[in-house]
Amino acid sequence: AAGQRQKQATLSEVLEKAGEAYRKQLRQSPAAIAYLKDRGLSGEIAREFGIGYAPPGWRTLAGVFPDYDDPLLAESGLVIAGEADENNEGKRYDRFRDRVMFPIRNVKGECIGFGGRVLGDEKPKYLNSPETPVFSKGRELYGLYEARAALRERGYALVTEGYMDVVALAQLGFPNAVATLGTACTTDHVQKLFRFTESVVFSFDGDAAGRRAARKALDGALPYATDVRSVKFLFLPADHDPDSFIREFGADAFARFVNEATPLSRFMVEVAREGCDLGSAEGRAHMASNARPLWSALPEGALKRQLLTEIAELVQLNAQELGELWLPPGAARP
Ligand code: ATP
Ligand code: MN
Ligand code: MN
Ligand code: MN
Repeated sequence: AAGQRQKQATLSEVLEKAGEAYRKQLRQSPAAIAYLKDRGLSGEIAREFGIGYAPPGWRTLAGVFPDYDDPLLAESGLVIAGEADENNEGKRYDRFRDRVMFPIRNVKGECIGFGGRVLGDEKPKYLNSPETPVFSKGRELYGLYEARAALRERGYALVTEGYMDVVALAQLGFPNAVATLGTACTTDHVQKLFRFTESVVFSFDGDAAGRRAARKALDGALPYATDVRSVKFLFLPADHDPDSFIREFGADAFARFVNEATPLSRFMVEVAREGCDLGSAEGRAHMASNARPLWSALPEGALKRQLLTEIAELVQLNAQELGELWLPPGAARP
């Protein structure tokens, strides 16, 4: 275990050193600087988030790490070790080339990985570090380390989809933003967030993917939605994400969306109701059936009891009938 911890510390050191090199490269790369300026980033915010640039070369990091063949470099995800040849020497090359680099930190501030964005329209748009002993996409949130003081100060977290969303929000007055790393928001993410704040506002893109992400976040958040916590969902206009919205319409407009965000209870009922014709018995039964797993995932408490009553009204049952339907005989009554 001590050896494992040592290894993890070393991996973070390797990643930190690469991050420093990427920052130095950015200062010498007019095209990358122009890209960031074009997207509205100030030098100050780029420095705060430690943004850098990986140049186009295949072995840039060989100039940073004297032993480019050190297996630690491959293990860190910075270097890809190709198939070994007859001399047992695989060709090695840098994973990140010609990309703007966003360092990802754990809550202790250690560098655990990177997200890299192309400057143009090439695919894939973003490349993330692979899963390593120090990096797990399903558990880490981009910007959490940078946001930790603001979470306490503002009293809530904004959860977005992208790196640029976090940086733009921070620059324009919302330093309490974090992002999932191109994956769905998991229960692990939610659990981690609630160690820093009792209030979370999910702010996903106003496209179909954003809608799906909100649905996933609802599933992840339900088990943690205790009566002392607040979980809300903010839906931006179609074709906008927090970055594009706040840059086009400003911080006050974004703040209004935050203030008017949909509470978890309302979103949960909307999701259960979707596609159900409450004018027919079948439609009401269908809604009840949709609502059951969502409602069951809630922790015991006043919110859960109120929602039973609310859903019962919508499906034209009384709360006791619905409770009997949803809880097997002998189980504790809601
Ligand atoms: P930008 O504003 O830079 O164009 P975005 O953050 O708005 O990018 P989206 O398409 O909305 O990009 O995707 C949201 C997030 O999903 C990204 O920030 C990134 O973390 C992740 N992502 C997007 N495309 C990919 C990809 N091809 N591979 C891995 N992750 C991706
Ligand atoms: Mn999107
Ligand atoms: Mn965007
Ligand atoms: Mn987006």
